[in-house]
Amino acid sequence: VIPVLAIDIGGTKMALALVDETGAILDQLVVPTTPSDDAEAVYAPLHSGLATLLGRHEWPDGAPDTGIGSAGPIDVHGSAAGVGGSRGSSPLLGTVSPVNISAWRDFPLVARVAASVATTTGRAPQVRLAGDGHCIALGEHWLGAGRDVASLIGVVISTGVGGGAVLDDRLVTGTTGNAVHLGHTSVNAWGEKCVCGGYGCVEMYARGPAMVEAARARGWTGDDGIDLTRSAANGDPVATEVIDNGMRAAAAGIAATATQLDIDVVVVGGGLSKAGEVIFEPLRRHLTDFATLPYVQHLDLRVAELDNAGLLGAASLALSLSGRGSLRAELGS
Ligand SMILES: [Zn+2]
Repeated sequence: VIPVLAIDIGGTKMALALVDETGAILDQLVVPTTPSDDAEAVYAPLHSGLATLLGRHEWPDGAPDTGIGSAGPIDVHGSAAGVGGSRGSSPLLGTVSPVNISAWRDFPLVARVAASVATTTGRAPQVRLAGDGHCIALGEHWLGAGRDVASLIGVVISTGVGGGAVLDDRLVTGTTGNAVHLGHTSVNAWGEKCVCGGYGCVEMYARGPAMVEAARARGWTGDDGIDLTRSAANGDPVATEVIDNGMRAAAAGIAATATQLDIDVVVVGGGLSKAGEVIFEPLRRHLTDFATLPYVQHLDLRVAELDNAGLLGAASLALSLSGRGSLRAELGS
């Protein structure tokens, strides 16, 4: 059985792995995300990483199905001039414009990865692209805290706030691949303007750096979000209040998403979630104020289990191209 190729693109690193259909990682490597204004300079390490990883194996039966999870926004139908083909007609469509990789704007990542894979294996692979929040939801659905349910919302609380949903064993993609953008759901219509252009988004209150900034404004002197959770665990009143405030915003966003999609399992991961009850206790408490309709009153809030959910989610995407893994076959494919 040919393994699949999983690629996880983040602002600081890009992880590549060959994964089998049980989720075992057969081989992997990580390349740094180059801080550069030049799109090709950012892509070059990914190209050489793919050549190295794939070059360590034999590919007599062609290229491995490939799943890519990328920081967003993405456009699963996007193409750049001269690559990919016309909208809707090519399997190689898919562009990314990650907020944290400024050199890539409408970058034709799917076509470029397919070309790089073909260089080593002799054949272009099938490729499926999704957002990083979606891939984390997929990973937890396949092998993590949501492996026993068909529907879940995945939430990442870290330097940003992301999300994704699996509904009846299908990824909720939306038209462009950006559905369930929980971090930029407004929970305060009278709030300040967000970097996204909206007002009062979840991320403005619940992301780690925002809580750190709020705490420092009140005299707290720690370094980062992890520090802040430690202070709260030690009873620091400012840290406790700031986290409480951030988790109220997160709870409002999670409840809105759960209410809209009618999904009652929520898996929460990301750097800050590792702090445990310091985050989950206020989150659970505030949810009772927002998840009020009968069908979401008993939201099942779960701690994410996987350290590499994004990478395994990308593998799950790749497996779905051949009807393997935990996702149902896509409609119309
Ligand atoms: Zn926003």
